[in-house]
Amino acid sequence: MDGLQISNLKTLREFMCKTQHKVYAEPGGPESYEAKMISELIREIDRLRPLGSDGKHGKLHTYYCQCDLTADERTDLYWSSITWEDVQ
Ligand SMILES: [Zn+2]
Repeated sequence: MDGLQISNLKTLREFMCKTQHKVYAEPGGPESYEAKMISELIREIDRLRPLGSDGKHGKLHTYYCQCDLTADERTDLYWSSITWEDVQ
């Protein structure tokens, strides 16, 4: 992955959520610039390491989620990343 290297997305997301609670309690609340930036960061973390409706990452692996995948899981990831356009 190019750009920012983050060693633990799960920990970073937890930290960002705690920070979000603090920022929401400040003047400006959820409408403040800081609150919007934190929301964007959390969205980006969720794109790299998606969470299910139960709040768990489970098997929603991506190339960037940092899980220690088995060979089978890596193969599934590979095939699920191929789109129709790739095979035409
Ligand atoms: Zn994963």
